[in-house]
Amino acid sequence: MDNENTSIHEFDFDLICEYFSSVERQGPGSPEVTMKALGFIGGLTDTARIADLGCGTGGQTMVLAENVPGQITGLDLFPEFIRLFNRNAEQRNLQGRVRGVVGSMEQPPFQEGELDLIWSEGAIYNIGFEHGLNEWRKFLKKGGYIAVTEVSWFTDERPAEINDFWMDAYPEIDTIPNKVAQMQKAGYLPVSTFVLPENCWTEHFYQPQVEAQELFLKKYAGNKTAEDFIANQRHEMYLYDKYKDFYGYVFYIGKKISS
Ligand code: SAM
Repeated sequence: MDNENTSIHEFDFDLICEYFSSVERQGPGSPEVTMKALGFIGGLTDTARIADLGCGTGGQTMVLAENVPGQITGLDLFPEFIRLFNRNAEQRNLQGRVRGVVGSMEQPPFQEGELDLIWSEGAIYNIGFEHGLNEWRKFLKKGGYIAVTEVSWFTDERPAEINDFWMDAYPEIDTIPNKVAQMQKAGYLPVSTFVLPENCWTEHFYQPQVEAQELFLKKYAGNKTAEDFIANQRHEMYLYDKYKDFYGYVFYIGKKISS
């Protein structure tokens, strides 16, 4: 029974991975927004050590690499994402400075005080915003920066349908002031916070998925797991369109000011 469950679980993971491998981004964001966040971060030199945790296939990492000096390590749980990440780096001739490794953000393979910058777009939720901020702080040098995106409420109150959806999907979703307070409590100076514009979801995340979904459903016609997965993706897209005034992704940028 255990084995059966494990293999179904793994099949789900493989399907999800295959689906998201076919699009450039695995979460909402855009090159413009990555650049905007980068604008708040200073002091990076050729010897800088940077980590992108939950990097996926590296859409945002390549933007980072083309605009900052230093060595960048992308970390992701899925080997296929890391294979595509390293291929992307090679195609851009960045392989000397950018390397993808398979691993967990729960135990990143870095030394304490090693990093100048921790980047993580749309991924810290996997271990929880507060937990991630607390756990990752030790890997930063004093004066180092953290820049993460996190889904956040825009209002104190919201319709039950969207509240229930997020309470089920990610109960740690919270308002921007509460997230900033969590960042400060975790030992960072909150340097900047800004809301990702709508096109990070529509143009850069959902739009490329429309064609990917058609192809995926054709390939897996009759496969209930695949059909349920796509139905889920479409439901999320529908909810975003309906309730985008109430939630979205927010960049939180912090600085470690004491050791
Ligand atoms: N940063 C990418 C982007 O914005 O396109 C990917 C964001 S995607 C929503 C979340 C990523 O986190 C996925 O690539 C997933 O494989 C990765 N992930 C999930 N749990 C992880 C873990 N425990 N350790 C490392 N990566 C993880």
